[in-house]
Amino acid sequence: MSQPDNPAPKAVYVKSYGCQMNVYDSQRMADVMGAEGYREVATPEEADLILLNTCHIRERAAEKVYSELGRIRIIKDEARAAGRKVMVGVAGCVAQAEGEEIVRRAKVVDLVVGPQSYHRLPDLVARAGVSPGVVDTEFPVEDKFKALPATPEAKTRSRGLTAFVTVQEGCDKFCTFCVVPYTRGAEVSRPVAEVLAEVEKLAAAGVREVTLLGQNVNAYHGAGPDGSEWTLARLLYRLAEVPGIARLRYTTSHPREMTDDLVEAHGDLPALMPYLHLPVQSGSSAVLKRMNRKHTRDDYLRLVDRIRAARPDIALSSDFIVGFPGETDADFEDTMDLVRRVGFAAAYTFAYSARPGTPGAEMDGHLEEPLKTTRLHALQALVTAQQHAFQESLVGQTVDVLFEKAGRKPGQVVGRSPYLSPVQVIGPSSVIGSIVPVRITGAKTNSLDGVLAADDHMSAVHAAE
Ligand code: SAM
Ligand code: SF4
Repeated sequence: MSQPDNPAPKAVYVKSYGCQMNVYDSQRMADVMGAEGYREVATPEEADLILLNTCHIRERAAEKVYSELGRIRIIKDEARAAGRKVMVGVAGCVAQAEGEEIVRRAKVVDLVVGPQSYHRLPDLVARAGVSPGVVDTEFPVEDKFKALPATPEAKTRSRGLTAFVTVQEGCDKFCTFCVVPYTRGAEVSRPVAEVLAEVEKLAAAGVREVTLLGQNVNAYHGAGPDGSEWTLARLLYRLAEVPGIARLRYTTSHPREMTDDLVEAHGDLPALMPYLHLPVQSGSSAVLKRMNRKHTRDDYLRLVDRIRAARPDIALSSDFIVGFPGETDADFEDTMDLVRRVGFAAAYTFAYSARPGTPGAEMDGHLEEPLKTTRLHALQALVTAQQHAFQESLVGQTVDVLFEKAGRKPGQVVGRSPYLSPVQVIGPSSVIGSIVPVRITGAKTNSLDGVLAADDHMSAVHAAE
């Protein structure tokens, strides 16, 4: 692909909104354009191609994209005035949902590409170079992942010691509030061999921790090398054998898909980290029914008991929607009660936002915004208190930390605990890349302070001398 008005090498900037699957897709988009000679840059001002990888989950997310496009129009105009051509693409779920509407509403946009078509970016960029306003929001029959170029090893190394790998896409659950089944399409699992090859490449480039991603990751049922369908648990056991991979995580799970083998894996697979994001959405069975969640409050509480029986130290996080149509004070109190019973290490809380085209938007009993906000604040206060309590509970404990990078302060190194909290210690940079025991000495809301357990031991020895 060539564009004579700009000399090579060209630069691409990708901005990611929303979930971790978008973070992964953004990296892969940069890889696709990297194979075409584009280097990745950190600001839109430096780029010849600006891609916004959007999220459509709540209304304001789409509006944010349109206001960002307003800022990008200025960058594009300034570049044009300086004799430089800049192309702008909208990718992701807003692209899928709004398609042509985006090019109508924002003239700055040259191309629109849905989440299932971004392997075709080079062709779309070439077409948009000739005639702006190209839209590709198909769900193609070819396997996007097979068509994507491999990430160069140097690129993987530059992205650090932890990596995401999408293993499952799409959703067949049709929760009545959610746009995902419409924007991401039907549930599809990548074959085991493809996932394994990607994880082996990551490990060879120094990655120590892999998070498997999917809108319903625990519904994974990829084709195994033997022709049988593998569950997520079986895949996790296999990936744990890849040399170099020390830690595995997966997200996001649906409570209905927490099969016995997966619960058991939490008990006996040391590489599987004791942190699980398990969205419940509401603590009221009546609301859950209207949400079409296909689980009740008691199902969820029983599931939590099963998981904790398998792995007593597991930390749980969740998503909650408050103010779903018809939610009464008693329903909301059921949510508060469920939170108190479970005790979460973290939680994402959202006020219900009606999404056009979803059954929830058509339901009776929409709540006034102020009531949603009041409930949201009450729930947030409760989960924040629980988050503090969880962090505090780690003080005095020794936990394994995977050190990832230097900290902001001199001599500081930072990593993550098994429970995903960032941990900072004063220590040598040689620990980066290793998993090292750390005694936690202090807790903040979003991070922990600690000392290397080895240093602790040495100071105990010196004290005894
Ligand atoms: N697949 C996951 C699941 O089943 O829970 C998560 C999907 S979604 C990307 C992430 C979260 O956004 C949801 O768990 C839900 O709490 C929230 N969400 C989705 N649609 C929403 C809506 N219409 N209004 C408010 N929050 C919403
Ligand atoms: Fe959306 Fe429900 Fe599917 Fe999660 S399970 S992606 S909330 S429809």
